[in-house]
Amino acid sequence: MREPAREIAPDSAGPAAPLRPSILDALFAPARGLPGIGPKMAPLIERLLGTPEQPARIVDLLFHLPQGGVARQLKGSIAEAPPGEPVTVGVTVVAHRPPQPGAGRRPHRVLVEDATGDVSLVFFGMPRARVEKMLPLGAHRYVSGRIDLWDGQRQMVHPSRITDEAGLASLPAVEPIYGATEGLTSRAISKLAHAALDRLPVLPEWQDPAWLERHALPPFADALRAEHRPEEAPAPRREDGTPPPRTAARRRLAYDEILASQLALALLRARQRRKPGRRNAGDGQLAGRIEAALPFGLTGAQARAVAEIRADLASDRRMLRLLQGDVGSGKTAVALLAMASAVEAGRQAVLMAPTEILARQHFERLGPMAGPLRLRLMTGRDRAPERRATLNDLAAGAIDILVGTHAVFQDSVVFHDLGLAVVDEQHRFGVHQRLALGAKGEAVDFLVMTATPIPRTLALTFFGDMDVSILDEKPAGRQPIKTLTIPVERIDEVVAGLDRALARGERVYWICPLVAESEFIDLAAAQERFEDLRQHFGAAVGLIHGKMPGPEKDAAMERFAAGETRILVSTTVVEVGVDVREATIMVIEHAERFGLAQLHQLRGRVGRGSAASSCLLLYRGPLGQVARARLEMMRESEDGFRLAEEDLRLRGEGEVLGTRQSGLAAFRLASLETDADLLEAARDDARLVVERDPGLRTARGRALRVLLYLFEREAAIRLLGAG
Ligand code: ADP
Ligand code: MG
Repeated sequence: MREPAREIAPDSAGPAAPLRPSILDALFAPARGLPGIGPKMAPLIERLLGTPEQPARIVDLLFHLPQGGVARQLKGSIAEAPPGEPVTVGVTVVAHRPPQPGAGRRPHRVLVEDATGDVSLVFFGMPRARVEKMLPLGAHRYVSGRIDLWDGQRQMVHPSRITDEAGLASLPAVEPIYGATEGLTSRAISKLAHAALDRLPVLPEWQDPAWLERHALPPFADALRAEHRPEEAPAPRREDGTPPPRTAARRRLAYDEILASQLALALLRARQRRKPGRRNAGDGQLAGRIEAALPFGLTGAQARAVAEIRADLASDRRMLRLLQGDVGSGKTAVALLAMASAVEAGRQAVLMAPTEILARQHFERLGPMAGPLRLRLMTGRDRAPERRATLNDLAAGAIDILVGTHAVFQDSVVFHDLGLAVVDEQHRFGVHQRLALGAKGEAVDFLVMTATPIPRTLALTFFGDMDVSILDEKPAGRQPIKTLTIPVERIDEVVAGLDRALARGERVYWICPLVAESEFIDLAAAQERFEDLRQHFGAAVGLIHGKMPGPEKDAAMERFAAGETRILVSTTVVEVGVDVREATIMVIEHAERFGLAQLHQLRGRVGRGSAASSCLLLYRGPLGQVARARLEMMRESEDGFRLAEEDLRLRGEGEVLGTRQSGLAAFRLASLETDADLLEAARDDARLVVERDPGLRTARGRALRVLLYLFEREAAIRLLGAG
């Protein structure tokens, strides 16, 4: 046996969490230790499941559930294969189109056909010899995967299986299909998952047995096995685009994960309630003066939010409040007035943003509105003398409001008397960070701001421990954004339109679509578009994407903000909240592939200045029902909450929360699209547990601790120490 990993991520919030129970050691051991992982495969596994801070572990493999399964008997013909669904087709290899040398990340395409039509098999980053060996010219093969339409052509990206007649006969009845990565096939992952299953220890049951029985849910270990060794292929999506019902195994796993997160929230909430707060608002004079000096009057919604926040601050209960408001709804002014209240009471405030550029932008915006408040910016880029000065002034109370990035978490950052922490764009911060920040003051009040519109019911369930204020009213005088839907065949007209806009000094975002589950493929599409546009517009075109290191991303964003580049081609990473007032045109390619919430977020990047703005939704027909309804909604409405409600109706919660883009949900096994109904049950169960067994000391309580560790919510376990 390998030496088990016993480390827990270091965290500056209070005493270290108790060690993970040794029963979980085998699961948290590095995946590299599994049989069958050699030096060639190890880095592929890391790329798929690891992060720079955290090498892939066995648990990561086990939680990398298949996205579907292909039944051996599920054979089809090319022409009749339902787009996007797994299928197996018998084909003849017609032609190889390897990438030209030096063509960068272009794929190797292989044209194959059956009696009904042809399809291009697409391989990224695979040696030519290997592709040719798998698919010799003229040979007959069975290929499995999903057929999609791309630029009017049928294609199958990285088939999950390629086999000949004999191979087909020896396959399992159902083969699970995993999200794969360049060079690592679904089959290889399946084998590793089986090896990982062999390491699965016997864990105590943490769910209420009566509940399990009532819902006919299997034990945790059985559920994992059933997922990785499926016996039935999952049902396909329904006609109207809604997902099929989940298997009992999948629901069990989803419920485990959701319960872990709700339990962590419930523990946090319980502690919040136990500890008294402080009065962090004064007589209202200072805040009143700042409000009066604003260049605008507050909207009704802003005034309401400010009043709710002041009431919280003034009470001796601790505030934990979520401020939700669409982009441009004026959250900054609300935050400023909240912070002014804290300063009035003799405290300090901190405003934290998820990126350098957003922190700087907040700092610059607040300055002119802040009156006598002493503001300071702190980022990871500060040089040593600056930084020292900031730390000194902060500890001496010579700074009222600190604006910064994650840098403000560091242990060396000590406040004179922190009263209020404002966190912008919450979904990038977890409970962990909230705890770390809370440890920097006595009974710190929290205001969390997010621009992701979430329907009220969902917000209450998801941010179970928070109160909510909503800015559902836009400041007067906003120019509407003109939204057009345009078939992609007319892309030349769009490009000509950009010529005119650039001549007027305007700037353009160009968003490239989600093509496949693989980020490499997304990236290839964005790069291709970037090169195309460069041919036409030269150096005015910039590129930004999710695989860029943070500083490079910031730099690309800054070049665009400064006008050095004027068309910014991007995958969906355009920084939430970044304000480029000259940006007036948002082009979204393959808009039919995005959810409403995401489209709305992207559209919110323009229309921030006084010039008229537009959003061009390029689509490729024919459109399905859901996609058509979405694009129509986008044309009709600019109301983020209305769109969110509509999205909820059309697609379910996953889209609304924009999980893929924002990482808000951070669920690995659960899908809010299909498992949202479990949220409420889990919340109720969690609250009941915390009420009856606040220290998690009963047999079930102890099993629940294992659950918290399993899903890495151990930050919550530290809360138990307080009793
Ligand atoms: P967001 O909610 O996206 O953070 P901001 O706080 O950045 O929005 O506000 C967007 C713009 O609207 C800013 O230029 C701000 O000065 C302006 N603004 C905020 N509140 C009002 C208001 N009540 N009336 C007019 N303009 C406002
Ligand atoms: Mg903002």
